Amino acid sequence: LSPVPSDIEISRAQTPKPVDQLAQEIGLLQEETEAYGRTKAKVRLSLLDRLREQPDGKYVLVAGITPTPLGEGKSTVVIGLVQALSAHLKLNSFACLRQPSQGPTFGVKGGAAGGGYAQVIPMEEFNLHLTGDIHAITAANNLVAAAIDARMLHEATQTDKALYSRLVPSVNGDRRFSPIQIARLRRLGISEIDPSALTPQEVSSFVRLDLDPAKVTWQRVVDTNDRFLRKITVGQASTEKGHVRETQFDIAVASEIMAILALADGLGDMKTRLGRMVVGSSRSGQPVTAEDLGVSGALAVLMKDAIKPTLMQTLEGSPVFVHAGPFANIAHGNSSVLADKLALKLVGEDGFVVTEAGFGADIGMEKFFNIKCRASGLRPNIVVLVATVRALKMHGGGPNVSAGSPLPREYIDENLSLVAKGCSSNLRKQIQIAHLFGVPVVVALNVFKTDTQAEINLVCQMAKESGASDAVPCHHWALGGRGSVELAQAVKQASSQPSHFQFLYSQETPIVEKIRMIAQKVYGADDIELSPEAKAKIDYYNQQGYGKLPICMAKTHLSLSHLPEKKGTPTGFTLPIRDIRASIGAGFIYPLVGTMSTMPGLPTRPCFYDIDLDPVTEEITGLF
Ligand code: ADP
Repeated sequence: LSPVPSDIEISRAQTPKPVDQLAQEIGLLQEETEAYGRTKAKVRLSLLDRLREQPDGKYVLVAGITPTPLGEGKSTVVIGLVQALSAHLKLNSFACLRQPSQGPTFGVKGGAAGGGYAQVIPMEEFNLHLTGDIHAITAANNLVAAAIDARMLHEATQTDKALYSRLVPSVNGDRRFSPIQIARLRRLGISEIDPSALTPQEVSSFVRLDLDPAKVTWQRVVDTNDRFLRKITVGQASTEKGHVRETQFDIAVASEIMAILALADGLGDMKTRLGRMVVGSSRSGQPVTAEDLGVSGALAVLMKDAIKPTLMQTLEGSPVFVHAGPFANIAHGNSSVLADKLALKLVGEDGFVVTEAGFGADIGMEKFFNIKCRASGLRPNIVVLVATVRALKMHGGGPNVSAGSPLPREYIDENLSLVAKGCSSNLRKQIQIAHLFGVPVVVALNVFKTDTQAEINLVCQMAKESGASDAVPCHHWALGGRGSVELAQAVKQASSQPSHFQFLYSQETPIVEKIRMIAQKVYGADDIELSPEAKAKIDYYNQQGYGKLPICMAKTHLSLSHLPEKKGTPTGFTLPIRDIRASIGAGFIYPLVGTMSTMPGLPTRPCFYDIDLDPVTEEITGLF
C-alpha cells in the first residue's frame, strides 16, 4: 500500500501460519518443537544431533555503517533479504535475529522486528515478552547478586562452626558436594569430611569465600532504561546489620548471562560457563565464581528453556530464529551461536542463513568476527553492509539527526555533495573494516521515499569504487521481499566467491595490544590511553591467566570514535579506556571506552507515550 501503513497495522493485517505448520515446512519433527501459543515455538537442541552430518548453508552477516540515532534498517534488510531469497529466488533461507530489549522498545528506538513490509510477525509478541528469555536472564542474574550479598552478611555474622554445619553437608547426609567444595577439600588434602580433621584455619578457608565488598564486580540488572539505578546503595534495612555498599544496576541485556546464552553451544557448555562467571575477588585477591557461591546449578535450571531458540516467521512466511539479545555498544551485539548453527543445518548446502550484528560494523561486526566466530568456529561467506542516504548525509557534514524531531531540510532535498562526502568517509571505512577480516562486502542501500535516483546511483557507484563486490538499492520496506530481489541476487553471486577469513588478532596477543589493534585498525585512533584503574585490572587479569581472552569493547555506536558527535571518519584521537571488566563465563575482557554507561536512560518524551491497549479488542497501538 502507498503510503505504507504503520508497522503494527501491517503486522496485524497478516495472519501468520500456525507455527506447527511452519515447523513442518522447514523439516522439524513434531517432538523437536515446544509451542508457545500459536505463532511461536522453542526448538529443541536435539535437532543439532539429528542434523550433525548435514552440510551447512551459506552464512551471511548483515552489518551497517555508523547509524543515526534512528537506526538505518539492518533488521528490515535481514528480513527483506530472507523474504526475497525464500519467496522470490526459491532458496531455503533463515533469518537469525536478536530478541529486543524493552529498554529501547519503551525508550527511543522502538522495537526491532524490522518495519514496513519487512517484519517478523506478530511484531508485538516479538517486541515484548517473546518466550520469556530476558526474564529468565534477569532472574538468574539477580539470584547471583542476592547470593553475593547474603553470603557476605552470613560470613560476617556467623562463626566458622555455624557456617561449616550449614554449608558443608554431613558425611552421612545425602546432599551432594559441589565440585568447588570437592576441589577445595582436595586442595586441603582431605578425602572425607571430618570437621575434627581440619584445623580452625582450614575450616575457615573451606567455608569462607571472604569476598571483598569493594571488589564485587557483579551488578543487578533490569530490562528498563532506568537511569536512577546507575548508582545505588544496598543493605540499608536494620536487618542487614550495617552491611551497606554502593552498587549499580545494568540493563538486563548487558548481563554476562545474556552473553553466555548467545555464545554457549549447548546446555552442558552453558552450565560450565555459568559456573565459571567471576563475581568479584576475595580479600586475598582470589577470584570468586558463581560455582563458589553454590548457585550455578540453580542458574542452569532458570536458563534451561532460554537456551532453545524461538521460531517465528516473516510477513511472507519465511522462518526466523529469535535468540539472545546483547546490545552491540555495551555488549557483544550478536544473536546466538546455537540459532545460527541450527539454521545453517536446516537450510542445507544450497540455502542461506542471514544473521545480524548490532549497530555499525566497527562494533557489531568486529565482535561478530573476533568473539562470536571464534567461539562458534563458523565462518561467514559475505557481509551485507547496510547504508542509508540519511546516515551518509549526516557523515558528510549534515546537521544532527535526533529521534522525535523533524528531519532537517538537507535530509529531505537532494544533496549529492553531502552524500559523496559520507560515502568517501564512513561508508569507505566500514567496507575497509570488513576487508580487514578478508570477507567480501555487498552494500545494501536501504531506500527511503525521500531518496532521489541521483543519490541512489551515487552511493552504489562510490561503494563499488571503495571495494564493495556489489552495491544495490533495496526497497523491502515499501515492497516486501520483491523489493530486495536485486540484493538477494547480489548476495547469491557474492557468496559463491572465496572468502579469506582471518581474525584481527590472535588469542596470544597481550590484552593491551589487542585493545590497541582494535582502536587503531578498526576505529582509526592514534593510540589508546588506559586509566590507572584499567591498568591495575589488566595486571590482575594477566596474573589470573585471563590474558588470552578476546576483547569486547563497550563503545558508543554513534561514532567510529568514543565521541558520539564525531561523524564521518574521525582521526587524530586517543581512545580512553576508563575501566575494564572480565566476563570469564562468557569468555571475554570488557573495556569501557569513554563515558559509555551500561544502563541507558529515558528521554523527555519516550516511546511509551504512544503505546496503548484497547481493552475490548486487546489491540496494541503505538509500537514500531
Ligand atoms: P536497525 O536494525 O539498523 O537498528 P531497523 O531495521 O530496526 O534498524 O529500522 C529502524 C526503523 O526505521 C524502524 O522503525 C523501521 O521501520 C524504519 N525503517 C527502516 N527502513 C526504512 C525505510 N526504507 N523507509 C522508512 N522507514 C524505514
